[in-house]
Amino acid sequence: MPDEARVPTVIGAARGAGTGDVMDGLMQPRPLTIAHILERAERLYAHKQVTTVGAERVTYGEVAHNTRRLGTALDSLDVPVGARVATFAANTRRHLELYLAVPATKRVLHSINIRLSAEHLEYIVNHAEDDVIFVDRELLPRIWPSADRLPKVRHWVVLPDGSDTAIPADPRILDYDELIEGVEPFAGSFEDTFTLADENLASGLCYTSGTTGRPKGVLYSHRSTVLHCLGTLAAGFIGLCESDVVMPIVPMFHANAWGLPYGAMMTGASLVLPGLSSNPAHLLGLMAAERVTVAGAVPTVWTSMAPKLRAHDLSATRFLLGGGSAVAPALSETYRAAIGVPITHSWGMTEISPVGVIGGTRTQHRDATAEEQVAVRAAQGQPLPLVNVRIVDVETGQELPRDGDAVGEVQVAGPWVAGGYFRVDGGDSFTADGWLRTGDLATIDASGYLRIVDRVKDLIKSGGEWISSVELEGVISSHPDVVEVAVIARPDPRWMERPVAYVVLRDGATTTADELLRHITPMVAKWWLPDDVVFMPTLPKTGTGKLSKSALRDSTRIA
Ligand code: ADP
Repeated sequence: MPDEARVPTVIGAARGAGTGDVMDGLMQPRPLTIAHILERAERLYAHKQVTTVGAERVTYGEVAHNTRRLGTALDSLDVPVGARVATFAANTRRHLELYLAVPATKRVLHSINIRLSAEHLEYIVNHAEDDVIFVDRELLPRIWPSADRLPKVRHWVVLPDGSDTAIPADPRILDYDELIEGVEPFAGSFEDTFTLADENLASGLCYTSGTTGRPKGVLYSHRSTVLHCLGTLAAGFIGLCESDVVMPIVPMFHANAWGLPYGAMMTGASLVLPGLSSNPAHLLGLMAAERVTVAGAVPTVWTSMAPKLRAHDLSATRFLLGGGSAVAPALSETYRAAIGVPITHSWGMTEISPVGVIGGTRTQHRDATAEEQVAVRAAQGQPLPLVNVRIVDVETGQELPRDGDAVGEVQVAGPWVAGGYFRVDGGDSFTADGWLRTGDLATIDASGYLRIVDRVKDLIKSGGEWISSVELEGVISSHPDVVEVAVIARPDPRWMERPVAYVVLRDGATTTADELLRHITPMVAKWWLPDDVVFMPTLPKTGTGKLSKSALRDSTRIA
C-alpha cells in the first residue's frame, strides 16, 4: 500500500475559516487492526510460547508463519474478502491461527459455540452465510450431520487434534495441515494493506445465546477489537504483561475468550490453551505444570475446580477472572483462602466484546475491614476506560442516581459496545440515544462501582417488593456443603412470586433444607427466605457452561 493512500492530502487543516473554529490534530491517521497485534507478536515476541493441551508447544513465530500460510490458503480456496469464515473448535493453537489469519486478510471470523442445538447451529450458520467451516476433528460428528442443511458452506476444513474420529469421504472436506503445507506464506505486512477507513471493517462475528428468541449476531470491527484489547489490558483491570502465562479456560467460541488470546499476543504473554476437556483435575494440572499466572473461566468451572485446589501447586497464579454470571463471594473467598488469589469479577456480554466492567478494590478500601473488602470484591466493579455505564428506571427510562441504593437497568456505551445486530433489527435493545440496554439490574455507587442485582427477567417480585436471586444464591452458596444453587420464582396466589432454591450438595453431604434455611436466616430479610429448597443431582447449563434458569424453569414447570 503506497504511503499516500494512508495519509490524507490535507492534515491539520481547520474545519472552518475563522477564530474559534474546531481544528483537526496533526497525528498520523493509522488504523487500529488485528493485523498489528499479529505482526507485533511476530516482531517482538517470536520466541514466546503457545502451549496446547498435550504439551504441543509452538512459538508465536511459528503461529505467525502458519497464519501467513493460512492467509494464502484462504485465497486459494477463493474465500472472498468480507466472507464469514466459521470455526467450530476448542482452544488450540490452530484456532489461534484462525483468530489471526481470518481478520488479517479482511475476512470475518465467526466462532461458533460447539454446544448449540442442531436447530440453533443451522440457523446461525445459514444466517451468517458462512463460506468455510474449520472444525476440530473430534467435533466433526456434532456438526457434519447438519452439512446438507448448510448450503452456503463450500469447504469444511478439519483441524487435527490428536483424535482419530472418522472423517467422512466427501470432496468438501479438507485437512488443515495439508491445506497450509507447502503454501507460500504471505510475505508482506498485513497491517499495511489496511487504510484508516478499514479499521471499521468487520473482523469477528459472535451470536448471542438466544435464550430469548433467535440468536443475534454481534459484528465486531478491527477498531472495536483492538480498543477492547487495550481497555482490558490497562493495569488495575486485567493488566496482562510479558511475564504472564495466560490460560483462557473460557472457550474461544465464548465471546472471543474475553479478549485474552489477543491480549496475550499484544503484550507478549505466553498462552496456554487447554483444548476441549473441562475436567477440573486436567485444568488444575495444566495450570500447575505451566505455571499459569492468569486464567479466566465461568463460575461453574471455578466451582468444579474448588475442591481440588490444594492438591496442586498454584503458587505462580496471580489473577483469576470470573464472568458470564455472578461469582458467589464464598467461591471467591475459597480461592483466596486456598491459594491467596480471589476470583475477580469480569462483567459484560457478547454485545460488549464482551468485557465492560472489572472488579477489585482501590486505595480507598485499604483501611476497610476484611468483611467490607469481601463486599467490595463481590461487586462487579468499575467500568473499563472508555466505557460508560448508567442505570435507568425500567419504566420511565429516567437515569437513576449513583448512590449505591437505586436499582435500575444497566445501559452501556463505548467504542466496543454493539450499536446494532447483524442483519436483524435491534428492536428495543438500544435506546434512542444509542446506548445498549443490557437487561441486567444493578446499583452504581458514588465511586462508580457496579453491583448486579439480577437480570430483569430473573428478579423475583414478591408482594410488590423485589428479591434478588443473585444475592440469595450468594448467601446459600456460603454453606460449605453447597456446590451449586439457582434461585427462581414460583408463582404464588398471594405474593405473586416466591423464591425457590434448587441446590446441588457435595457428594455424601446430608444437609437438610431446614439447616440451609437456618444458615442463611441471619444474612437476609425474613421475607427473602425461599419457600422451598429442592435438592438436585445437577443443574441445567447453557452452551457456555452457565446455569440455565430458563431450562430450570421449564423442567420444574413440567415436573
Ligand atoms: P447470554 O448469557 O445471554 O448467553 P452472554 O454470554 O453475553 O449472553 O451473557 C451476558 C450476561 O451474563 C449479562 O447480561 C449478565 O446478566 C451475565 N453476566 C456476565 N458477567 C457477569 C458477572 N460478572 N456477574 C453477573 N452477571 C454476569
